[in-house]
Amino acid sequence: MQDVPLLISRILTHGSTIHGSSQVITWTGEGQPERRSYAEIGARAAQLAHALRDDLGVADDDRVATLMWNNADHVEAYFAIPSMGAVLHTLNLRLPAEQLVWIVNHAADKVVIANGSLLPLLAPLLPHLGTVEHVVVSGPGDRSLLAGATSVQVHEYEDLIAGKPTTYDWPELDERQAAAMCYTSGTTGDPKGVVYSHRSIYLHSMQVNMAQSMGLTDQDISLVVVPQFHVNAWGLPHATFMTGVNMLMPDRFLQPAPLAEMIESERPTHAAAVPTIWQGLLGELTARPRDVSSLTQVTIGGAACPPSLMKAFDELGMRVCHAWGMTETSPLGTIARPPAHAVGTPQEFAYRITQGRFPASVEARLTGPGGEHLPWDGESAGELEVRGPWIAGAYYNGPDAESLRPEDKFSEDGWLKTGDVGTISPDGFLTLTDRAKDVIKSGGEWISSVDLENALMSHPDVAEAAVVAVPDDKWGERPLATVVLKAGSAVDFDTLRGFLAAEAGIAKWQLPERWTLIEAVPKTSVGKFDKKVLRRQYADGELD
Ligand code: ADP
Repeated sequence: MQDVPLLISRILTHGSTIHGSSQVITWTGEGQPERRSYAEIGARAAQLAHALRDDLGVADDDRVATLMWNNADHVEAYFAIPSMGAVLHTLNLRLPAEQLVWIVNHAADKVVIANGSLLPLLAPLLPHLGTVEHVVVSGPGDRSLLAGATSVQVHEYEDLIAGKPTTYDWPELDERQAAAMCYTSGTTGDPKGVVYSHRSIYLHSMQVNMAQSMGLTDQDISLVVVPQFHVNAWGLPHATFMTGVNMLMPDRFLQPAPLAEMIESERPTHAAAVPTIWQGLLGELTARPRDVSSLTQVTIGGAACPPSLMKAFDELGMRVCHAWGMTETSPLGTIARPPAHAVGTPQEFAYRITQGRFPASVEARLTGPGGEHLPWDGESAGELEVRGPWIAGAYYNGPDAESLRPEDKFSEDGWLKTGDVGTISPDGFLTLTDRAKDVIKSGGEWISSVDLENALMSHPDVAEAAVVAVPDDKWGERPLATVVLKAGSAVDFDTLRGFLAAEAGIAKWQLPERWTLIEAVPKTSVGKFDKKVLRRQYADGELD
């Protein structure tokens, strides 16, 4: 067979020609959204690559960062930068300033392409970004914020690409070369850099497109709520350019009301985001019902999907598909498509609420506390380890000695240790019980914080619930339930405790005796429950 490298430029060329009339639709918040065809994106990506190379001197594997929302310009950067041989580095715009500075310096980014609306975030950081030579600004925003930026040259995105050739002789790169990089969102510690190769992105995109994964076609419109800086928007921009799926991009309009509005008016068929986004949308749709009938498929991942959320979405006609992954796994690691024999039976839901099955290219094993490999019997719980062509084998310029030792993240024989604890059924369905760090170790037994949270969130008066371990003299650790009530609800803790025992099937010894009401569960930079913050707040066992 021919040994043709699997390159991002190939995906771009395919998408912008064969699927040239497919569109990226960017929400603008007022008037009509902006519609850009894949053909236009191909032409403008070529122009951007010329500008980066000829005007900004980007060469070889220079890192070009993006500080951008999900929008059409960001898609152009996604393809132009790796296709020309440089490395796309998507920056998480919700990280605290000092982490962003650390990440940009660690990656040694040479250029930052930023949305104008994010200049208030970027401008104060610039004096601390040692390697950045150029800032390219795209879209609306106050440019005067960069007036004092003396350490960098500032360019306008549109001026920079204007007049450049609309084709580019994309180089024949090594498919194992770096194409993109992304730092973990730091839920479990310091950010760590993961570098994706052309080959890993290409193969991952093919998997995303398979019928047993997201299985979208050019008749679909995908509402890509998951940020392009969160593990490459779960691979969607690359996968869609392979198949011509249209993308609806929310830009900075990520609140429940505009999301509901864009669903009603642009009629996407598919959407992808973390559970907290969908909880918010559900609240909005309950308060102000809209026509969301086009949206029949919703991919939820990044954190466990509460069964109550899945049921509520089912009732609205939006079928949730649950998936698991990490920055280190590109991210698709498992996806919960029930097996044929369960479809239409009472077991179907039980399959759908698992994290799902592993695709052919992802090998998995469970490891017990003594390093032994556990059987796939649906009962033996251990740490999940994975291996495959789109699974990270190391961290970029890491690990940093203080924050990470190699044996913490990779096994001796090179498997990624995920830090997630769970079981695998004989037919290959993964059920995560917890993150290793979130498990509550009570008197030698483990209590799953996720099980308690899901049970609590199935109570009609509970909007959100997060459970963390707090120190306990007798048991070592016990669960603390932090609860956010729905507006107007006044349920008491005894009632909730009774509900957990009587209706949610939680064993008596697992029932929390410590409870506190909170205004909102703190969230991480990608919208997940931030248990680090809760733990810090309640580590001494003192309650409000
Ligand atoms: P971070 O580790 O900084 O949060 P990631 O976005 O890479 O950044 O998070 C990956 C982690 O998110 C996984 O290791 C797992 O703990 C959690 N996760 C992802 N998807 C799911 C899911 N469907 N169910 C439960 N946990 C999930």
